[in-house]
Amino acid sequence: MTNNAQIILDHISFSYSEATEKSHFLLNEFYLNVKKGEYITIAGANGSGKTTLASMIKGLITPTSGEIYYNGKKVTDCGMNSEIGYIFSNAENQIVSPVVEDDVAFGLENSGFNRQDMKGVVLSSLDKVDALNLQKELTHLLSGGEQQKVNIAGILALECKCIIFDEASSMLDPLSRRALLRLLKELNKQYKITIIQITHNLFELLNSDRVIYLYSGQILFDGKSEVFINNKSSCYSFGEKQRLLIEFIQKLEKITKDCSFYGWDLEDLVSHLSGLAEKK
Ligand code: ADP
Repeated sequence: MTNNAQIILDHISFSYSEATEKSHFLLNEFYLNVKKGEYITIAGANGSGKTTLASMIKGLITPTSGEIYYNGKKVTDCGMNSEIGYIFSNAENQIVSPVVEDDVAFGLENSGFNRQDMKGVVLSSLDKVDALNLQKELTHLLSGGEQQKVNIAGILALECKCIIFDEASSMLDPLSRRALLRLLKELNKQYKITIIQITHNLFELLNSDRVIYLYSGQILFDGKSEVFINNKSSCYSFGEKQRLLIEFIQKLEKITKDCSFYGWDLEDLVSHLSGLAEKK
């Protein structure tokens, strides 16, 4: 086993049904090794298994066979991993308290954390996501981007060592989305938190160091983001086409001053351009 591995999925197989035939498994003899402090993108078409994989890493679902290791310890049947945070796309759904500071403290209270130290932890967690100013605010009045910050602060308060972002920016406006990306980079670089982001957005992919591209529950690509973008292969829906798209969108943004593109391929670009044309 690799020494600095934080998470290992060791030849896991998984099916949502009672299927016993391997051909019906969503994940089949799947192997993945995540090192401490990595910033990874999990990409792939809808239904390719991204959320299933992330749920398994968090311990929300158990593999049909194979083992999961966390920091070298077998955790396959241990349920939810408290060192791994999970942020979903709908920020509002993850909010549990009417006031920000209570929401950030919620997990601490549930884990029986010392009340005297709680305030300090809540404040330092809000500070880490640059949201100290929100401490006394009502959560339902916050923007989606601010709610995501509060959700992340709640996870940081629990000292999670890895955070999974499952299309966490997909419901945010362009500016909040970019702010969230900057925050992810900072959490990774400054606090050495392992980031696993599931995304369908090319620009988010560029924010990460490693890309895992799934197709029907299998890894088609696992390597550096820049290698992924410069992939000359034309038989998959990634590679050079994505690089050209990124170049095109960057030029478009300069001309239109509009940075609202959120997407992955030519189809997304066409619908983005139609939207821009309708606005004119
Ligand atoms: P992705 O995140 O890449 O869109 P998912 O992991 O959500 O893919 O889903 C992979 C496949 O598993 C899809 O065919 C989906 O319909 C199926 N699936 C996902 N969740 C469930 C579930 N709870 N029960 C049964 N099938 C599911």
